[in-house]
Amino acid sequence: MSDMKVDFDKMNGLVPAIVQDATSGKVLMQGYMNEEALAKTEQTGQVTFFSRSKNRLWTKGETSGNFMELVSMAVDCDGDSILVKAHPRGPVCHTGSDTCFDEVNSSKTGFIDQLRAIIKDRKNNPSDKSYTASLFAKGINKVAQKVGEEAVEIVIEAKDDNKELFLGEAADLMYHYLVLLEAKGYELDEVMEVLMQRHKK
Ligand SMILES: [Zn+2]
Repeated sequence: MSDMKVDFDKMNGLVPAIVQDATSGKVLMQGYMNEEALAKTEQTGQVTFFSRSKNRLWTKGETSGNFMELVSMAVDCDGDSILVKAHPRGPVCHTGSDTCFDEVNSSKTGFIDQLRAIIKDRKNNPSDKSYTASLFAKGINKVAQKVGEEAVEIVIEAKDDNKELFLGEAADLMYHYLVLLEAKGYELDEVMEVLMQRHKK
């Protein structure tokens, strides 16, 4: 991260920093960083800006406790804007809203993309300790069979009334389904494309 080429001179020492929820993908807020704010964000792992109204460094959450834990930073194509991905520890806006754009930020479905990246990595860089890697090693028949077994298990739990067990089976099915897609070499986007086509008017 520290080798990011940010052009602070072009912008009189300050560049806009756009903060995105690392899980949901929602844009949370926008602030400004100078060189010190960028360095402090990297050192502490808590997103820190230069506040123009306070005229000093300002770590988001320093008074509210709603820190934003840094996941990654990237600079844009011409070096004058920073994209920060973070995990917010609470509502981001001083108004109490989830985001400064008054949007609800409750969706965790963006985690599916992170999970898919992990599954892909287990396929390409297998390790002995990884259950996912062991599935790929056993081949497509075993992976497909696991999806079938998990499907049967969720059917059984659907007929019962135990939330924890049902959600557990729902998670097992989704995970093995994603592994099957990866084993077949297809992207989830290709499935989404089929669904979107069906709903085209
Ligand atoms: Zn705000």
